[in-house]
Amino acid sequence: PGPLVGEQKPRILLMGLRRSGKSSIQKVVFHKMSPNETLFLESTNKIIKDDISNSSFVQFQIWDFPGQIDFFDPTFDSDMIFGGCGALVFVIDAQDDYTDALNKLHLTVTKAFKVNQGIRFEVFIHKVDGLSDDYKMETQRDIHQRANDDLADSSCDQIHLSFHLTSIYDHSIFEAFSKVVQKLIPQLPTLENLLNILISNSAIEKAFLFDVVSKIYIATDSSPVDMQSYELCCDMIDVVIDVSCIYGLQDDTEAAAFDFQSSSLIKLNNGTILYLREVNKFLALVCILREDNFDRQGIIDYNFLCFREAIQQVFELRNKSQVYVALTTNH
Ligand code: GDP
Repeated sequence: PGPLVGEQKPRILLMGLRRSGKSSIQKVVFHKMSPNETLFLESTNKIIKDDISNSSFVQFQIWDFPGQIDFFDPTFDSDMIFGGCGALVFVIDAQDDYTDALNKLHLTVTKAFKVNQGIRFEVFIHKVDGLSDDYKMETQRDIHQRANDDLADSSCDQIHLSFHLTSIYDHSIFEAFSKVVQKLIPQLPTLENLLNILISNSAIEKAFLFDVVSKIYIATDSSPVDMQSYELCCDMIDVVIDVSCIYGLQDDTEAAAFDFQSSSLIKLNNGTILYLREVNKFLALVCILREDNFDRQGIIDYNFLCFREAIQQVFELRNKSQVYVALTTNH
């Protein structure tokens, strides 16, 4: 993965033509804006360093192409911009003619690759809510083909692009960001392993480790993700945060509404339980399990504490590859 210079947090740069949807993505994913409100966003024409670094696991910067930014301008410090960044997300408006966007994409990735070979290139084929399923696929195929042809024509085959279909009107934007962020976490296999151990010993169906602020999941167990479960867990986080913000804040402190003791339980009428536990300042575990298996909550809670301890170790002692966990079985 890209260099995480002196920082453990994944750093992501968001680029694309003006009006492609960058500010909207940022507002919806990191600031809980509702998609309809983005219609009234002012267009920006400068680099925005979004200050979410104190509240989120992910560091995030947006960058517009209003036209006048020129890579060959000597004042443009590409070493600084691309050097420390783990992933470059390039947003393309799929509802518009994307020829210009493809040219900018090519220019950007070739320039960035020269500075930083470890950088991941992620292309968001965005605003696909307006497209039919067939047309969506066709657009993805076309963009994929043309972008890679451009790279091949300039002998840049070693540059790899990943593509995601996204929209702020559904969960696809969160899902895509989750994928992007996961590639930047060197500890991902360990996290997945810990989640696997946790769910099998606690009779949990599915578990997500969430960055609470953005609702990006930074890891999950290795059973397949179905969008509905992910959406349920996202909705749960919204509910928990809303209730905490309304009732959990004291006037005289700046203490976060969400803290290390936060937990929440939601019973659905189909015999399923959603269970949320806070892991650290940024992360929460959200589990889906059957109500019958929640009888032994003590065991689940005990296992969770072991899991939390292990997660702490994973992020603090990054050099130690061995993490010790002892879990109790709920069978
Ligand atoms: P920026 O200049 O790249 O920051 O673009 P903006 O975030 O200002 O977005 C430009 C317009 O695109 C706004 O009117 C948004 O409401 C709209 N937009 C952004 N994302 C989506 C999306 O996923 N679907 C649709 N239909 N419109 C979007």
